[in-house]
Amino acid sequence: MNYKDLKELVRYLKEVTKCPHCKKRFIERDISILATLPAEAVFQLDCHNCHNTILVNIGMNNQEEISPGINKDDINSMRSFLSEFNGDFKQLFKPSKSK
Ligand SMILES: [Zn+2]
Repeated sequence: MNYKDLKELVRYLKEVTKCPHCKKRFIERDISILATLPAEAVFQLDCHNCHNTILVNIGMNNQEEISPGINKDDINSMRSFLSEFNGDFKQLFKPSKSK
């Protein structure tokens, strides 16, 4: 997936994705790219309003169309993943402090 595709996906996310918690639309600085594959990308969305964090996996069907690629398995694995670290992504990415 190239830079142009990623920009397109970010634009798409801003247009269609809302925070499931406070229903605000995400803005560009809320969106970070976690992973890119040739035909899909994983984004982390941090709500600027309520600081809720969600993960979105988007696949590209072809060069023109973009569709959300979240299925039940993704959501379930995401849920178990989230429950394991209390949904605190910022904590996750910080270097862990020794006690
Ligand atoms: Zn929110």
